Amino acid sequence: MCGIVGYIGSKDAAELLLNGLQRLEYRGYDSAGIAVLNGGLSVLKQKGSVSELEKALKNSGQSEQSIHEATAGIGHTRWATHGDPSDRNAHPHLSADGGIALIHNGIIENYSAIKKELISKGYHFSSDTDSEALVHLIDSIWSDKPEIGLEAAVRAALYHVEGAYGLCIISQQEPDKIVVARKGSPLVIGIGEGEYFIASDAAPIVEHTKKVIYLSDGEMAVVTRDGYVIKTIENITQEKHISELDFDLAKIEKGGFEHFMLKEIYEQPTVLQDVMRGRVRLDEGQVRLGGIEDYLDRLKLSSRVIICACGTSWHAGLIGEYLIEEFARIPVEVDYASEFRYRNPVITKDDVVIVISQSGETADTLAALRLAREKGALVMGICNVVGSTIARETLCGIYTHAGPEIGVASTKAFTAQVTVLYLLALTLSKGRTMSREEIKLYLKELNGVPEKVERILKQDDMILEIAEDYKDARNFLYLGRGYNFPVALEGALKLKEISYIHAEGYPAAEMKHGPIALIDEDMPVIFIATRDNSYAKVLSNIEEVRSRKGKVIAIANEGDEEIGRLADHVIYIPAASAPVTPLLSVIPLQLLAYHIATFRGCNVDRPRNLAKSVTVE
Ligand code: GLU
Repeated sequence: MCGIVGYIGSKDAAELLLNGLQRLEYRGYDSAGIAVLNGGLSVLKQKGSVSELEKALKNSGQSEQSIHEATAGIGHTRWATHGDPSDRNAHPHLSADGGIALIHNGIIENYSAIKKELISKGYHFSSDTDSEALVHLIDSIWSDKPEIGLEAAVRAALYHVEGAYGLCIISQQEPDKIVVARKGSPLVIGIGEGEYFIASDAAPIVEHTKKVIYLSDGEMAVVTRDGYVIKTIENITQEKHISELDFDLAKIEKGGFEHFMLKEIYEQPTVLQDVMRGRVRLDEGQVRLGGIEDYLDRLKLSSRVIICACGTSWHAGLIGEYLIEEFARIPVEVDYASEFRYRNPVITKDDVVIVISQSGETADTLAALRLAREKGALVMGICNVVGSTIARETLCGIYTHAGPEIGVASTKAFTAQVTVLYLLALTLSKGRTMSREEIKLYLKELNGVPEKVERILKQDDMILEIAEDYKDARNFLYLGRGYNFPVALEGALKLKEISYIHAEGYPAAEMKHGPIALIDEDMPVIFIATRDNSYAKVLSNIEEVRSRKGKVIAIANEGDEEIGRLADHVIYIPAASAPVTPLLSVIPLQLLAYHIATFRGCNVDRPRNLAKSVTVE
């Protein structure tokens, strides 16, 4: 979950590391730290944000000078798993003599056994983290055999480790290298001119170089000013492909918006066009999804599709279920990746398992992918980050092309995922359940969505006013049916994530089976009541809420006057057929959650306890 950066070259490493950590702060932000090699090894770490760390560095006076002389070092923003967010638990962690510094992303599952053993050998621990065990283990192995050097000591230590890690290690004894290793947590090496960067993702690298190497699980690298050597942990040299990054700095900056989340909400019309670009031939009624072309026959013959995902991606998956079943008539199941992987699911060779993850690094989704592959299913990925682990480990897949998503609460990645699933469902139906003419109509409808999203965004001021009225609510209920049920779940999740207001999403008809008991004048209920085949039923549900004095905010289609009479507030969205409606109905819910959260003074880009890319189970 956390952010890792490393630098080795000829420039001020501390400055580059701090700058890199800012770009990674969305991954974890409860504490931050850097360690640099400046003759010795200097460390600065503390609880709080990267900018607070920067301030601390400025206030450190004398020592600041020597820190800025360093041209190699490592940095970390933490998302605590073991031990509270505090100065002492912040990374880097040091060996007893202060000679080795280590940063870690992930969880060392057998850390307590390692720690016990090390304590019996006289090692002292100064943090509660699992990560610290590893730096002492490396130190212990190296001290026993000083001739082996840092790389071999790290390699030997990793043989004892169970769990997941992305690691960077430096030592004042071998000051011209950074040793890195990965298992389960992503690491990228950026290749510059006489300088090298290491990071958890490409965000801090892209302003320096576009040439990157993605490390695979079980690989280690030794990075020096002259180059890098990549080997497996078993010491077998690897030839790695150098990839070219396809985005630039502007894409990961705020571009005049107050928050990344708002910028990303507003990017959606463009993003949806990007998802379709080069893939949709409107006049021919054709969809071309290059990443699955070779497997299309097999995909169409599958007896069942299982979609595995977590969080917002899981909501997109639910919409995917409705789409694939309606368009292609293939049975679909949607599973939480974390449940799927542990419940001994029935998977056969005729199944297609689709894993969805924005980052392509979600630990549970990755584990579900591996399980499905082991059982012989055809595994397909839908993710946003090019070159991510899920992209590399799936047989085929579709990128969402939403551009880097920095806001922790996912918005544009969600609508991009739904669009991809829509295109996939149409692709699977071609020649089986739908004629070219029918596909053409559905594509036309999708093609009109970006402009409709623009129209909804223009109502932002009105949504802001509604948000102000409800900013102090303690609970919210979100109700929708059919395609709008997953949207209700997603709307409730957005509000929970960034405003810390308790919210629940339900299928509207389920209200009578429980949630109706909660309704009183303090319970705002959001109804997604667009004109589809359940519209009349949803209207009755609204009446039921009103007669119990609940406050009603409705998302309805333009021109729907009836709902204007029933609801306390209405946000109108353009009319659309049911399958594309989620792409529209979710937009006001994203804006509403955003504004409520900002009225409450919450940090929407960095909500408490959450991290962008959940790379631990
Ligand atoms: N497990 C480590 C800790 O709690 C690393 C967490 C992270 O990935 O930030 O410090």
